[in-house]
Amino acid sequence: MRAMVLERSGAPLSFVERPDPRPTDGEVRVRVAACGVCRTDLHVVDGELPNPKLPLIPGHEIVGRIDMVGERVAALGIGRRVGVPWLGQTCGRCRFCRNGQENLCDRPLFTGYTRDGGYATHVIADARYVFPLPERGDDVATAPLLCAGLIGWRSLQIAGDGKKLGLYGFGAAAHIIAQVARWQGREIFAFTRTGDNAGQAFAKKLGACWTGSSDDTPPEPLDCAIIYAPVGALVPAALRAVRKGGRVVCAGIHMSDIPSFPYEILWHERELKSVANLTRQDGEDFFTIVPKVGIKTETTAYPLRRANEALADLRAGRLHGAAVLVP
Ligand SMILES: [Zn+2]
Ligand SMILES: [Zn+2]
Repeated sequence: MRAMVLERSGAPLSFVERPDPRPTDGEVRVRVAACGVCRTDLHVVDGELPNPKLPLIPGHEIVGRIDMVGERVAALGIGRRVGVPWLGQTCGRCRFCRNGQENLCDRPLFTGYTRDGGYATHVIADARYVFPLPERGDDVATAPLLCAGLIGWRSLQIAGDGKKLGLYGFGAAAHIIAQVARWQGREIFAFTRTGDNAGQAFAKKLGACWTGSSDDTPPEPLDCAIIYAPVGALVPAALRAVRKGGRVVCAGIHMSDIPSFPYEILWHERELKSVANLTRQDGEDFFTIVPKVGIKTETTAYPLRRANEALADLRAGRLHGAAVLVP
């Protein structure tokens, strides 16, 4: 197999060739057709998340076909088109797993963080955490759904059903969730970095009724807001933008420190919540609505060997939509 490998935090990924991995009991091997580049990959590569597996193959937005099956895998056969998400494995026994909150499992494994991921030609996955995908479909266009779409979906659910929805940071997740929210009949208020006219035009194209920069006040109070950008200063900005009883959801795994803010912008029963990981149920729900919404993703494909360039473009905010690696 060929892969892009992180040897130590902060170092560029290096291209390596290794013997093909073999699935053990309960595992499948997926021949990767496309793997999206998620902001979480940046946090992993930059050492902002603790204790990654090292050396590590990053990547957790994987689309491909099963090409080898281990013992005791009944449900999935060779040739099946599947997606491999961030949630790689859970313990099934902790209080969270037993309570329908496997996203909060005490002993989880995460694809492309604590187990090898999809910046490669092949990946091994626990068969129970793999999502079957429709036989036909564009692999590159599907890859961003595996995290930007799924975590975006979970954050939208947690934001509640308010009509007026603010989205802070209009990247891979927001461009998918804007389409879902429009389909649900919501109004989208898109906030980008100051001066990001291209980002605001992109949001308008996807149906945003208003766009502005993140310190702008929207024309009317919002019911809820989701923060996708990893910028703590957006938390007080979003709290100021929502109405009494409104909710602000932080959708990222890592954020810069939140500056102190006056209590009055949280008062009146405003709520602030974070979203962590996903459950398999989120995946089932989300992939059921994907064809109904007719989600179209905007992607830029990079050859696997140019993964460092894709990460740099994401870091610099040069992308609209999502970067996807193709082996
Ligand atoms: Zn657990
Ligand atoms: Zn992700």
